[in-house]
Amino acid sequence: MNNIAKLVRPNILKLSPYSTARDEAGGAEGIRVWLDANESPYGEDGINRYPDPMQKRLKGKIAEIENIHAESIFVGNGSDEAIDLMYRIFCTPGEDNAVAIAPTYGMYGVCADINDIEHRPVQLNSDFSLPVERLLAATDGHTKLLWVCSPNNPTGNAFPFEQLCELADRFRGILVVDEAYSEFNTASRKGKDLLKGRENVVVLHTLSKAYGLAGARVGLAFSTPFIVSLMNKVKYPYNVNLLSQTKALETLDSVDKIRDNIRSILAERERIGNILPLIDAIEEVYPTDANFILVKVREGRADDLYAHLKDFHIMVRNRSKTPGCAGTLRITVGTAEENDTLLETIRNFK
Ligand SMILES: *Cc1c(COP(=O)(O)O)cnc(C)c1O
Repeated sequence: MNNIAKLVRPNILKLSPYSTARDEAGGAEGIRVWLDANESPYGEDGINRYPDPMQKRLKGKIAEIENIHAESIFVGNGSDEAIDLMYRIFCTPGEDNAVAIAPTYGMYGVCADINDIEHRPVQLNSDFSLPVERLLAATDGHTKLLWVCSPNNPTGNAFPFEQLCELADRFRGILVVDEAYSEFNTASRKGKDLLKGRENVVVLHTLSKAYGLAGARVGLAFSTPFIVSLMNKVKYPYNVNLLSQTKALETLDSVDKIRDNIRSILAERERIGNILPLIDAIEEVYPTDANFILVKVREGRADDLYAHLKDFHIMVRNRSKTPGCAGTLRITVGTAEENDTLLETIRNFK
């Protein structure tokens, strides 16, 4: 058994997955009449047909854009599906545990709770840097997963590549690096580079942020073909619907437009990142590698500023109750016009 197989729950390792009519067909080549899946013969744009369970066209496109083998790509109903699958594949309820940085994305903890897996949050250092030794010290023989979000939500900072390497090499379980905001991180070496020569890394990406498809629910995981095959075994057979697969393909076909949008967001991030510290109400603006900025509000008045913005019909995320983020708001970078409205409204806060 390979080292990774030893980490997998025994019931999952021996699972025979559901086999769909489309899996058994093994390809649509040459077929004229489909009478295998009890679908309706009536419908527009192919919506009467089940979607491709393995999303081959979409994976082919992603493989091209990301320069990664299609067998190393999992496509899910948002990255939230991939997060849940990690627990279901690797963690035995009531027995195993998972370590994660804190503060971070809430779903690692929620999915741990749902799956009855002990969740072990480890606070970031006070400057939001990665506590490598404390993370490793929190692991034991039952720690199957180690969660690092980079750039981290809600702090905004990305962690140095060398530290992620160190975690992957010293941890005996699966390191999951959530790079939902990867496209806004200008670092030269990122999650995908961790996969070279390692078998215990899963990198999460999503089409929800930079690609503008949050409503379509398309998340990606990059890993070894072995781990991806486990994810495919456990996922719902038709986990990504036809409309979303079609929309994702369309969007990836015009990737130049997406790159323009990313450039605009980065320019705006820079612009408002320079203006925010000049506004009286703002005590600190934290460095960001994502499409949002965490700010600390002066005199502990984050809740008041949050309410003020809401009065003026502007929603930001209140993070003032999150341990490690006391007194902060998380602000997504919008269009220049939206950002101007935000800045003006903060200026008027008394
Ligand atoms: C937004 C976000 C996601 C995206 O989740 P989807 O299910 O793909 O929409 C994943 N991880 C983090 C840290 C996020 O902030």
